[in-house]
Amino acid sequence: MRCQSCDYELWHCTKRVCPECGDAFSLTEYAFECGKVLFHCPHCDHGIEGKNPSGRPPENIEQCASCGLAVGLDLFIVRPVAGLQADELSPQLPIYTANGSWFSRYFATVWLILSQPQQAISRVPIHEPLQKAWKFFAITILITLAVGMIPFAFIILVGNIFGSSSLGAIKFAIITFGELLVVGVFSFFYIVMWSLLTHVLLHITGGSSFTLRRTMQAVLYGGGAVITGVVPCCGGLLSFVWWLVASTNMVAKGQRVHGGRASFATLFGPLLIFIFVCGSYLMLVFAITGLGVARAKVNSQQMQQQVQQQVTQSDSAEKEVIDSPLEKQ
Ligand SMILES: [Zn+2]
Ligand SMILES: [Zn+2]
Repeated sequence: MRCQSCDYELWHCTKRVCPECGDAFSLTEYAFECGKVLFHCPHCDHGIEGKNPSGRPPENIEQCASCGLAVGLDLFIVRPVAGLQADELSPQLPIYTANGSWFSRYFATVWLILSQPQQAISRVPIHEPLQKAWKFFAITILITLAVGMIPFAFIILVGNIFGSSSLGAIKFAIITFGELLVVGVFSFFYIVMWSLLTHVLLHITGGSSFTLRRTMQAVLYGGGAVITGVVPCCGGLLSFVWWLVASTNMVAKGQRVHGGRASFATLFGPLLIFIFVCGSYLMLVFAITGLGVARAKVNSQQMQQQVQQQVTQSDSAEKEVIDSPLEKQ
């Protein structure tokens, strides 16, 4: 349970204002895991458990069962049960929990990012080292590339079995390594530039609640949506768009800014890059076709000149033929 404005921990608070920034809060803004926290009477410290689904005590409890004085959602002191650290209380991304195999935890995390990006980023602690987010993104890229390479690997394998290409495996390894290198370097610069631009735009349009690290967490964990790139045919576009949508939602929730402002700040960079890439591609196409047209014009002009020269030469030859008898006379 952390302050929505400044991320300060709100366990043990006796009032409903954050001791750090002074913002008011209400227990109804939070969900709790049953059995992990107790709601204590402010008068005698008698603790009661919450009830599902929110994990809070029912709102109709107005009297302490132990001392009989007034209790309620505005009065309870919320504390982790004895022996539990505050870190273990806040829900984590599935990949960092201990339930199930690594693959099931990884895909549960990806699913959360795809379906509920705002909930996903609220499970990322603000002070979490950024390398964890980078590692998660790198794993996603590796899995996406590996799955994307399966058809090529299959073709090479078939080629090897029938003995038609003995060099196939080496070529395949070189292509794979090259692709990894290009994608890795491109992704790194893309993410750094995108995060910086988003963060700067957030600050120009009114500021953000947290540092650049939070924006980068949104962009990197939003990158979990890149896994949709394994879908045949439309995968590339799908992953690009889904990454944008996920990260926009994560920036809004993670930096506690309005959805419109988050959309503007987050979408501006990729759209600019998209327009720039498309624009330079079109310009390249025009330049090449323009060059071709110019060359064709020059060629046709040369041809015409040659034809004209030939015509004039044959004309003069004919004249010579006609003139020559006259000269003899
Ligand atoms: Zn606060
Ligand atoms: Zn009491």
